[in-house]
Amino acid sequence: MKYFIMSDIHGNLEALESALEVIERRGSGKIVVLGDIVGYMCNPNECIEKVKNFDCIKGNHDYAVVNREMLGWFNENAKKALLWTISKLEYEKIEFLDLLPYVRNYEGFTVVHGDITAPEKFNYIKGDRGILRINFEKMEKNVLLVGHTHYPCVFVRNNTGKISHVYDLNSRMNLDVETCKYIINVGSVGQPRDGDKRGCFVMFDDENMSIEYVRFEYDIFKTAQKMIENHMPEMLYKRLYIGR
Ligand code: ZN
Repeated sequence: MKYFIMSDIHGNLEALESALEVIERRGSGKIVVLGDIVGYMCNPNECIEKVKNFDCIKGNHDYAVVNREMLGWFNENAKKALLWTISKLEYEKIEFLDLLPYVRNYEGFTVVHGDITAPEKFNYIKGDRGILRINFEKMEKNVLLVGHTHYPCVFVRNNTGKISHVYDLNSRMNLDVETCKYIINVGSVGQPRDGDKRGCFVMFDDENMSIEYVRFEYDIFKTAQKMIENHMPEMLYKRLYIGR
């Protein structure tokens, strides 16, 4: 079966719609959303409406909308955008975010927003060996898909325990789940930070065990215009043009 796995939409409706168009052209499959549906961009209600029937899990921005004492976690720009988001969200949308699970398990893989050792704490999996090691140990399935950093990457642990980082994400990658474990960051639909301004998601095929990173263009100008009209911090819309 084909899975289209996306994360960190952050209220960016233009990016989400473009992603869904690309997915539709690629045929049928299951869409899984790894959290942070809201925060930063200006269409939180519309984005929730579009993804509410997919398999979604909770991100830290989704969590903070409901648990406002957590707003202290965020930097000034993110907090400003979240307060704006809270002021615009319809009640039923807040309820939807509140009820999202932290983790979902599928036959051959698990999804979580941050890390699997403490899903409700939203820790980051970056390059730290210690954090990678405990995550690989805690994984019950051989494949873990995450979001949160907005940075697409793949970490592999082979059967000798050696952990490596895959840099070429441009071609399809076959997963050797008989001997290796994988932590796959699917990047961000709505606010990429790897220097590529195009949105990003992953197509995962659990029959031939392969993944493919899919990049897509969207109308950044339109997204930014809405942010300007709503007095969002300048840094938050300028970054969309450079993907940082
Ligand atoms: Zn995020």
